[in-house]
Amino acid sequence: MVMTRSAAGGGPPRRRLAGWGFEGESYPPSESLLQWLTERLGTTVPFPQFDPSSFQPIEPRALPHLHCRISQDPMERLAHARGQGLPDLLRLRAGAVSALPDVVAHPGSAREIEQVLNVCGRSEIRVIPWGGGTSVTGAVNVLPSQDSIVSLDMQGLSTLEDVDVESGLATFGAGVRGPALESQLAPYGLTLGHFPQSWELSTLGGWIATRASGQESLAYGGIDRLLAGVEAIAPSGRLELAAMPSTAAGPDLRQLLLGSEGRFGVLTRATVRVRRRPETLHVEALLLPSWERGLEAVREMSQARLPLQIVRLSDEPETEVALRAGLADHALVAPLLRGWIRLRGIRGSGCLLLCGAAGSVGETEASLDRAAALLRRHGAVALGRRPGNRWLEDRFRHPYLRDSLLDRGIATDTLETAAPWSSLSSLARRVRKALESALQEENEATTVLCHLSHPYPDGASLYFTFFFRCPADVGEALARWGQLKRRATEALLDAGGTLTHHHGIGLWHAPWLDREVGSTGRKLLEATARTADPEGILNPQVLLDPVDRLET
Ligand SMILES: Cc1cc2nc3c(=O)[nH]c(=O)nc-3n(C[C@H](O)[C@H](O)[C@H](O)COP(=O)(O)OP(=O)(O)OC[C@H]3O[C@@H](n4cnc5c(N)ncnc54)[C@H](O)[C@@H]3O)c2cc1C
Repeated sequence: MVMTRSAAGGGPPRRRLAGWGFEGESYPPSESLLQWLTERLGTTVPFPQFDPSSFQPIEPRALPHLHCRISQDPMERLAHARGQGLPDLLRLRAGAVSALPDVVAHPGSAREIEQVLNVCGRSEIRVIPWGGGTSVTGAVNVLPSQDSIVSLDMQGLSTLEDVDVESGLATFGAGVRGPALESQLAPYGLTLGHFPQSWELSTLGGWIATRASGQESLAYGGIDRLLAGVEAIAPSGRLELAAMPSTAAGPDLRQLLLGSEGRFGVLTRATVRVRRRPETLHVEALLLPSWERGLEAVREMSQARLPLQIVRLSDEPETEVALRAGLADHALVAPLLRGWIRLRGIRGSGCLLLCGAAGSVGETEASLDRAAALLRRHGAVALGRRPGNRWLEDRFRHPYLRDSLLDRGIATDTLETAAPWSSLSSLARRVRKALESALQEENEATTVLCHLSHPYPDGASLYFTFFFRCPADVGEALARWGQLKRRATEALLDAGGTLTHHHGIGLWHAPWLDREVGSTGRKLLEATARTADPEGILNPQVLLDPVDRLET
């Protein structure tokens, strides 16, 4: 599978409206992958493409003066109406978006945000902070409402405001996206090291507001560990928390803003912990004989606290897909590879383990050698650096595959959780079973892949990808997705997992929040929202509203 970019003429790439990423880019599936999926799901019919000419804009309501640049351009309002969850994509492509923000506001400073909130508070206008709009939980979605709605696009606050090289701290406007953040740190030889798969489009404020985790969290930590100080503006006032290495001054309010999804204030700037850019990053690929052996090996590596950057263990179906999707240059290398694996005593595909280390060349080699020695004791077979490098090169491109599959009528979505090591194996089995059986009454199959990532000494995150046949009718497609999502969410909670390790709560997980924090936890969070935002204008549908809106 090869990443393609059309030879579009000059200018910055334009963001795609009803799909991932930028126009002209794609990541089409290999024939081998399509064949594998079709064997499991049956034949499919293409899902409609977005047709701009059939888009009927909803008239915006009149709003008072907002004291910053605004846009009521219908396409811009549509681009801010939805995030990047599968239901968003289905609705955008099918022209079934039922509400738009009345206006997209583009503040250029914290002062302007304060003014927007003042005006909106006085006039009962809802405000949805919008970072990169990459939420996969419905957290930026605009739903039909009596109240007017402002989408508050944070891109105007995206500069590096201060670097304290001595302390390893950098302060940015909260609207800065991944590439701009790293390129502003590069002249100092520094990196934040936060690389979620959505890195090209998501923002610092969005990462904090959703408690995001990057693919190298094993070394750098999730955004909760990277955040040192933060400023938030709420309708009730401004909260400024200076950067501190640690503090015992009561409960840490930074932690309260992490995961607040815009409910407790608009994050305007943040100070993050940065480090020297590593000289090199290498990813080795290995195969483990089975998922259970792989779990044991990764647990041992995590508890031995090996200095690694990336550890990602795929189950057998995901390994099969990775090989078919091109990780091993399937057509040429895969048959040889399969022969080699069999010779080394691994039946089936085995389980792919990506193991990355960073630092100087010597440090990297030493870390990977230590990992390899441990993994050999668990029966691992090394595949060398080529597949690992291929994964690294393509890691921000994989999301384009979802659009290409939908073009062929195959819907795919993901969900994630985390749990202690002692629960992980049964958790994976139960979620797989729930997904595989969710559509049985309709005689429909679901194909499920799983990988472990973000390992900790006491547990790890599990990430599930599932595929199902997508009906061409958007209502039926949403109903199918809702059924899968409900069953899988119940299963992961029943099996002792967290509702979400890094995607957040948003609109779609909110009905289950009580199972995670209990009714007292909910009351504490509601009280905080009331204090920060007495009129309830800030993104009121997310996080705390327990209404089941999976199909909306
Ligand atoms: C293809 C793909 C891959 C992904 N990979 C990962 C991954 O590897 N790791 C991961 O953690 N997540 C991942 N995500 C989920 C998503 O990218 C994250 O949740 C991300 O942190 C959202 O950032 P954003 O800037 O796009 O926020 P948005 O989607 O714009 O907003 C998300 C929430 O944060 C609020 N918000 C945004 N900015 C602010 C602000 N300045 N102040 C207050 N509230 C704000 C919004 O109101 C909303 O509630 C992925 C999503 C996609 C589509």
